[in-house]
Amino acid sequence: MSQGTGGFGGLKPLQIIGDGDQGLAAPVGTPVAAVAEGRTRAKVIIIGSGPAGLTAAIYAARANLEPIVLGGYAAGGQLMITSEVENFPGFPDGIQGPELMDRMRAQAERFGALVVDVDVERVDLSRRPFRLWAGGVEYEAQTIIVASGASAIWLDLESETRLRGRGVSACATCDGFFFRDRRVVVVGGGDSALEEALFLTKFASEVVMIHRRDQFRGSRIMQERALSNPRIKVVWNSQVVDVLGEDKVTGVRLRDTATGREHDEPTDGLFVAIGHRPNTGVFREWLEVDAKGYLTVHDETGTRIDGVFVAGDVHDHRYRQAVTAAGDGCRAAIDAERWLAERGLAEPATATAW
Ligand code: NAP
Repeated sequence: MSQGTGGFGGLKPLQIIGDGDQGLAAPVGTPVAAVAEGRTRAKVIIIGSGPAGLTAAIYAARANLEPIVLGGYAAGGQLMITSEVENFPGFPDGIQGPELMDRMRAQAERFGALVVDVDVERVDLSRRPFRLWAGGVEYEAQTIIVASGASAIWLDLESETRLRGRGVSACATCDGFFFRDRRVVVVGGGDSALEEALFLTKFASEVVMIHRRDQFRGSRIMQERALSNPRIKVVWNSQVVDVLGEDKVTGVRLRDTATGREHDEPTDGLFVAIGHRPNTGVFREWLEVDAKGYLTVHDETGTRIDGVFVAGDVHDHRYRQAVTAAGDGCRAAIDAERWLAERGLAEPATATAW
């Protein structure tokens, strides 16, 4: 497996503000640079810099909307912790998740999007222009596209974090292929875990499901499929308390929840499938969420607040793919553009059958 948690972290290129030797250096992608560039007000502000957010940025920028992307400190979204992406069209040899995100970002910036690596702390959607606060700076937007994604829930073990991308994954669709003829472990007892386990049987020689109780939470049909699959073995009443291995996963240490007894299961991979959490925090007071906590969309990509649009995993718990998120970002940007054009706030630029 060739995962990596690379990203936009680390050193950033310096951008010189002002002229000559007198100029102040502000790192690109910081709130300081946004203020210095005078770019805190926009027709479109996009929240999130995964495939949904950056595709929305490409479309909005190409429609001359000069979008600002408040991309999060952990910019790039879930693909930043994904290894080789082999199902994104256009890359016949595959591409590393972080590189794909770097390219999307460069493409958005090429057309004039400003990407600021900062988390949004608060929003006021009570009237337009909408107001957002991030990294100590106040931003104003005529429209907002929420593309803040979802985050996998992890077990919270130090060894799990250390070995992420080295055998620890939260995405069988992304990484299952790397475990051909290997033994892998899946943690969880819901539909996600059952689905991941069934998917992994296409590659792995054996899939061991570890569940902390003595019955699954997932749907009956998925349970039946998993339990009748000869490649799936279940270890009930067990918690993973440690991931073993220095540079790559070699096993997991399990604790029996009834007896407290511990034993080690050898494995080449650990797939954590204990759920995802949509990143809705700052919007919860303003936007509707469904029973699972994901944002609810109205009329394609809209929300109950006129001028606020949604794209990607923050509302989609069904498909959750880079390419579907990207498509969603495109749709939201076109809807935002149309919304602005209808109100005389922008010239329509994207040719669609409006
Ligand atoms: P989920 O239903 O919340 O299940 C999470 C599972 O992980 C539970 O079995 C839970 O154990 C276990 N778990 C939680 N925290 C844990 C921890 N710290 N250590 C060990 N185990 C832990 O989440 P999900 O499976 O992602 O499903 C989310 C929703 O999406 C569900 O409504 C599901 O039906 C739906 N979904 C549907 C499909 C499908 O239809 N094909 C596929 C995926 C998801 P307990 O059971 O003991 O709580």
